[in-house]
Amino acid sequence: MSTPSHVVVVGASAGGLSTAEALRRQGFTGRLTIVGAEPHPPYDRPPLSKQVLAGVWEPERARLRTEPTLSAVDAQWCLGDPAVAFDAATRSVRTRSGTTVSGDAVVLATGAAPLRLPGSTDLAGV
Ligand SMILES: Cc1cc2nc3c(=O)[nH]c(=O)nc-3n(C[C@H](O)[C@H](O)[C@H](O)COP(=O)(O)OP(=O)(O)OC[C@H]3O[C@@H](n4cnc5c(N)ncnc54)[C@H](O)[C@@H]3O)c2cc1C
Repeated sequence: MSTPSHVVVVGASAGGLSTAEALRRQGFTGRLTIVGAEPHPPYDRPPLSKQVLAGVWEPERARLRTEPTLSAVDAQWCLGDPAVAFDAATRSVRTRSGTTVSGDAVVLATGAAPLRLPGSTDLAGV
């Protein structure tokens, strides 16, 4: 496979950010586009249920990188616009706003969402 010139990363959290940073560290000089469902720059989730919930940290402190460090990744960030379709044949991602981004490689770093057990929604403390 030839070296990609445009990599599209779907998911702008720890996994997506680490992928982008690793590509740059390893000398990738092509275009990088990072598509994220949430409007926020990447943030660390564990403190949310600990320091932030306890009121010890301001939410801003949970950011994974400072603005200059994020800029150094030299990526185009498309935040607040979730991918709604992926065509593996053309390596194209369509977002909710109707934008289509095509790359030579697409990385899916969309994490996981918890499943709710049927009948658990009304249980206290769940
Ligand atoms: C409250 C909380 C506390 C935690 N505490 C701990 C802990 O103490 N220790 C520990 O080891 N782990 C903890 N974790 C788990 C840890 O945060 C995850 O393992 C880690 O965030 C996984 O990173 P990820 O990038 O793979 O996925 P995620 O962080 O889930 O990121 C996936 C990203 O993809 C985005 N996305 C999803 N679908 C789309 C789409 N269609 N288009 C575009 N973007 C999309 C999401 O919005 C999200 O930003 C905790 C998680 C939470 C939520």
